[in-house]
Amino acid sequence: MKNKFSKKEIEDKIKQAFSLNPSKTQIRKIKSLAMSKNVKLNEYKNKFCKKCLSCFDSNNSKIRIRNRFKIIKCDCGNIQRYILRPRQDLNLRPRH
Ligand SMILES: [Zn+2]
Repeated sequence: MKNKFSKKEIEDKIKQAFSLNPSKTQIRKIKSLAMSKNVKLNEYKNKFCKKCLSCFDSNNSKIRIRNRFKIIKCDCGNIQRYILRPRQDLNLRPRH
């Protein structure tokens, strides 16, 4: 079966959807679309809850920064953590 959209088109769709505060249904669609083409959600991954698929906003989530981690707590109880430092910083650590 051939996919209808190119990778680029899917990236554009993701970008457009997240600029409009997408609903849970839209996020579910975006996720499956991205997965079907192996498109990475990258910076959009921390814009919605992995558990209940709500788009995070100030009403349904709390954001805390602690120890280089961005911690997002959703109203559904799900907690997501993201490292804030770019990956190359970690590679500078001495190896023992
Ligand atoms: Zn949630």
